[in-house]
Amino acid sequence: MGVVRFFLLLGVVFWVARFLWRWLQPTPPPMRADGSAHALSRCSRCGTLTPQELVVWQGDRPYCGLACRDGGG
Ligand SMILES: [Zn+2]
Repeated sequence: MGVVRFFLLLGVVFWVARFLWRWLQPTPPPMRADGSAHALSRCSRCGTLTPQELVVWQGDRPYCGLACRDGGG
C-alpha cells in the first residue's frame, strides 16, 4: 500500500501547493483591448511623441506633422 499512499500524498501536496500559489499571486488586471488607440509614434525628425491618428507617414517613417515631414533635409 506504500505506492498508493505515496500518490495520495503527492496529490494532496500538489493541490495545497496550487492553492497556496493562487492565494499568494495577486490577480492580474484585465488586459486592455484598446491599447492601440492610445499608441504614440515618435517623430523621425524632432522626436515628438504623436498619437497614431495624427502621425503623418512618409514611407515607413512617422512624423509629428507636415512641417517635419516636408522640412528641408
Ligand atoms: Zn516632428
